Amino acid sequence: MLEIKDNIACIEQQILHACQKNSRSVDDVRLLAVSKTKPTTSIIAAYQAGLREFGENYLQEAVEKIQHLSHLKSLQWHFIGPIQSNKTRAIAEHFSWVQSVDRLKIIQRLNLQREQAISDNLQTQPLNVCLQVNISQESNKSGTMPEQINELAEAIQQCKFLQLRGLMAIPEKNAPFSRYQQMQTLYNSLKAQYSNIDTLSLGMSNDLSLAIAAGSTMVRIGTAIFGTREPRNN
Ligand SMILES: *Cc1c(COP(=O)(O)O)cnc(C)c1O
Repeated sequence: MLEIKDNIACIEQQILHACQKNSRSVDDVRLLAVSKTKPTTSIIAAYQAGLREFGENYLQEAVEKIQHLSHLKSLQWHFIGPIQSNKTRAIAEHFSWVQSVDRLKIIQRLNLQREQAISDNLQTQPLNVCLQVNISQESNKSGTMPEQINELAEAIQQCKFLQLRGLMAIPEKNAPFSRYQQMQTLYNSLKAQYSNIDTLSLGMSNDLSLAIAAGSTMVRIGTAIFGTREPRNN
């Protein structure tokens, strides 16, 4: 577990370096630790090294970890995996953030179910939402097409129990820097329309420097903190 602490120090150093290179403040880039498939002991090690925000992709696994770690103060859980509509209730009940919202039906369900979760005292705050953009326009990928961002953002804005925070994307492997700049442009135009937008969630273990150069405010790091993952078969 010492390794996790060292890995985090190393990533923080990379973030700092990328910020300096691009004349950005290091306080403007948050580090989300992506703990999918990793045990709670690893999450505790990252927590002890100072991290408070964790990202999960698989609902059942995530809910078990969230319940197991409910004694840890100020943890913030982000759901970042593809969303099936029968999973929205668990997201509304257990998470502070969801970054993978990409269609109207999901928005409506999350809003209703967050209202319910608040009235059941499971949550106190609106659910923070990022729209996931399919920036590489890959047919097999989740995410909304860029042309649909405005309509979905407007729908979220109307929801009392959702708080629109920004955009998330996963550029294709070895994407050119221009892809990251496309996300930056979409983010800036959303930010110009709504005052509460503060999150461009872009960059993973292998591309965080490119993402920070394009204005990312949140990098989502799994492998470089927790090590390689075993493949999942479900
Ligand atoms: C798994 C995952 C990550 C982390 O990827 P690494 O390459 O392991 O850093 C980030 N974002 C999303 C949406 C993921 O599913």
